[in-house]
Amino acid sequence: RAARNDADGVRGYVPSMGQIFLRRFQLVTQFRQALDSGQIEVHYQPKVALPDRRVIGAEALVRWSHPEYGRLDPDEFIPVVEATGLVDALTSFVMERALVRVRDWLDRDLRMSAAVNLSVRNLADESFPDRVSEALVRHAVPPELLTFELTESSVMADPERSLPVLRRLRELGVILAVDDFGTGYSSLAYLRRLPVDEVKIDKSFVLGMGTDLSDMAVVRSIVELGHSLRLQVVAEGVEDDAARDKLVQMGCDTAQGYLISRPLSEERFEAWLQARTVREAGSGKWYGEGQNVCT
Ligand code: C2E
Ligand code: MG
Ligand code: MG
Ligand code: MG
Repeated sequence: RAARNDADGVRGYVPSMGQIFLRRFQLVTQFRQALDSGQIEVHYQPKVALPDRRVIGAEALVRWSHPEYGRLDPDEFIPVVEATGLVDALTSFVMERALVRVRDWLDRDLRMSAAVNLSVRNLADESFPDRVSEALVRHAVPPELLTFELTESSVMADPERSLPVLRRLRELGVILAVDDFGTGYSSLAYLRRLPVDEVKIDKSFVLGMGTDLSDMAVVRSIVELGHSLRLQVVAEGVEDDAARDKLVQMGCDTAQGYLISRPLSEERFEAWLQARTVREAGSGKWYGEGQNVCT
């Protein structure tokens, strides 16, 4: 057990290749059961409209509570799961959860959208749009309240397969967003050709804005480019007031980040929403206690 914990390198211990392969192999073989046994959870991080603080929706972000390794972040297991067909099951799982949330919000007169991250395999799957369409009908959710986030590199992995899938999704009326924008190799030239509605500025630029003038320039030009293409522009990684103020000045439409809230479990997200609504009725404050809630 101690040796296994050491395998995450937290204690400065360098895991051997054997240990790395063993762990990856375990993650692949255990994922299906993890999904069925409740180890996989969906957390929600709010997105707010700028310059006001209206909550317009939330991004669904997956977490794995592994019985042996503890809480695993998606950056560790998504690439492993992506290498198998299991990512289809993951996407369906997250989409189902997200649609239940949207329906529940609608039933309480809250018109908020949920964003689900897609993987490269979903974009290559021509049956995916039909499954989305069926799920929207089954949950009685209007398509414009479901957003899919995809990276440029996942589209560009096989544009001939992914572009028709994206077009079909867009015909359904769901919102498409380019995630991690600015990190791809062909950003500007390709954005115009992608059938998308929204662009999310990669958090590395937003985090760097306070200290690095070139990050500031990148953020500003993405906002301008996005607007000139009539896209909504979202900034992720908004951690402080200075970044938020700058984004407001630049005319960025939407903000997401630790300043507003970390990703929260379903229960904590609902509590956060509740506290904020109550507080909003009384005070003119931008951000309340919710900002520091940790998961
Ligand atoms: P992403 O889609 O770009 O999600 C944003 C990531 O930034 C999340 O990391 C979020 O917790 C983090 N973040 C948000 N605000 C801040 C901030 O203010 N500061 C900093 N430093 N970080 C912030 P997370 O949850 O670890 O997810 C990592 C990536 O894993 C996601 O990046 C996404 O690409 C992928 N992912 C997550 N859930 C899913 C899923 O259900 N399916 C697929 N295919 N990929 C997923
Ligand atoms: Mg995302
Ligand atoms: Mg991102
Ligand atoms: Mg990412």
